[in-house]
Amino acid sequence: MSKLCLTLTEKTLKDCNNILKTNIHEIDLIELRVDFLNSNEQKNIKYFNTNIPVILTFRKVVDGGLYEGEEKYRKEILLEGIKCGNFDFVDLEEDLIAPKLESAAKEHNVKIIRSFHDFNGVPQNLGKKLLKIRRNLDEIPKAAVMINNTKDLLVFYKEALSIKDDNKILLGMGTFGFNTRILAAKIGSYLTFCSKEGVSAAPGHVSPSILNGIYRFREIKKDWLLIGIIGNPVMHTMSPGLHNDGYSKLGLDAVYIPFETDDLQSFLELANLLELKGFSVTVPFKNDIIPLLDNVTNGVKEIGACNTVIKIDKMWVGENTDSLGFINPLLEKYGTLKEKKVTVIGAGGAAKSALYELKKEGAKVLLLNRTMSKAEELSKQFNTLFAKLDINSINKIKEFSDVVIQTTNVGMHPLENINPLDFFNFTGKEFLYDIIYTPKETLFLKSGVVNGCKTLNGWQMLLEQGYRQFKLFTGYEYPME
Ligand code: NAP
Repeated sequence: MSKLCLTLTEKTLKDCNNILKTNIHEIDLIELRVDFLNSNEQKNIKYFNTNIPVILTFRKVVDGGLYEGEEKYRKEILLEGIKCGNFDFVDLEEDLIAPKLESAAKEHNVKIIRSFHDFNGVPQNLGKKLLKIRRNLDEIPKAAVMINNTKDLLVFYKEALSIKDDNKILLGMGTFGFNTRILAAKIGSYLTFCSKEGVSAAPGHVSPSILNGIYRFREIKKDWLLIGIIGNPVMHTMSPGLHNDGYSKLGLDAVYIPFETDDLQSFLELANLLELKGFSVTVPFKNDIIPLLDNVTNGVKEIGACNTVIKIDKMWVGENTDSLGFINPLLEKYGTLKEKKVTVIGAGGAAKSALYELKKEGAKVLLLNRTMSKAEELSKQFNTLFAKLDINSINKIKEFSDVVIQTTNVGMHPLENINPLDFFNFTGKEFLYDIIYTPKETLFLKSGVVNGCKTLNGWQMLLEQGYRQFKLFTGYEYPME
């Protein structure tokens, strides 16, 4: 298990203490960032007395901190901190020449964390470099490197897993590297860092309550089963909460983690390296993942979109749980769709699942999309009418308006202020279904609600497709209670 360290970036020691009090039950140690303190407070760190292990850090701007002053002053403050007995660790950068600090640390039993930061990317020789920066075997080497893309992430994990020694601190910064913080135990990192609620002291920091509440950070062990979700963007997804809650309720040693992805081939290599049991697939990869898999179910073949990948007998097999996840809530809330006239907005992966089920239910469908070629392609696949998503299609929409279904990502962050059907006025008789679940009510749904339409958002779909994925990943039914 790795430890969770809260980085304190307040201006006063009193505020640092208050933040510590609020978070004390969720963390194992804290890092006092002297560079964030007011200059008069910096001289008072000897009064910062806590009952939890503390790392003393005074970071320069070049290493991602705030301090720009004289090196002499920084060393004086660090020396005072080491001598005062309030600190268990001191962070000294790899290029800091300070024999006085080193001998004082030895004398006062303060462990040295020898650190380096790379804000450009992952050095190819990260593993070797990390072990080389130690001045003696008592030091804990630390590397924080920026993960700019999936290729970087792959190099990071290859290097991290090549170091068998767990006496190290290793993490990837940025959104692509967020999973490296959750998987600290997997890569044998002594700790990972986090920030108070609503603040990111470094790129990718989240709060202790996210790491513990959603990812069970302080329980994860090296041998836990790993399941992922790929997308771009992916950090907004609520799937980790859903899946991890289920694992927790069933007492399964498993964790579900987001992987922001920009290169599917590299991700599959990474998934093999990390021995993922499976992964969910979200925007924009539901189509592109299919040719890279070893096998897909008939459902995936017919729909042409895959939202679930499972490792079976060393092969990656694609499934689709979106289609039933999509249709069941609609049937439950609206009733039969036989002979109903339905407009579907969007021609992406989710639209394919929708069209597949709507046709099975006997609905008559008009497909609208921004890009006509995609609408035409899907209309051939599912034998529907199609038109451009613009004002010229108003009459056709009126004709196909028993149910109007929104399946694009327009309405979701960062497009939350757009209604893809803003040129259309509802009469109140239409039933509107938006498969987006954040926000709960998109502008598209709002435009119907104000005219008296009944509506459904994507929350129930998220749950239903997730429950099915849960069964495929773990073999267990989702614990509903
Ligand atoms: P996708 O394959 O990337 O397709 C995106 C669709 O959105 C395409 O039709 C695209 O049109 C359209 N689009 C994107 N930007 C647009 C814009 N500015 N104006 C008009 N149309 C635009 O994505 P997907 O996998 O189908 O997912 C779409 C949405 O469904 C996402 O918001 C996702 O979160 C949601 N979803 C929800 C659930 C759930 O469980 N509730 C499950 C799956 C998906 P073009 O063809 O013109 O590019």
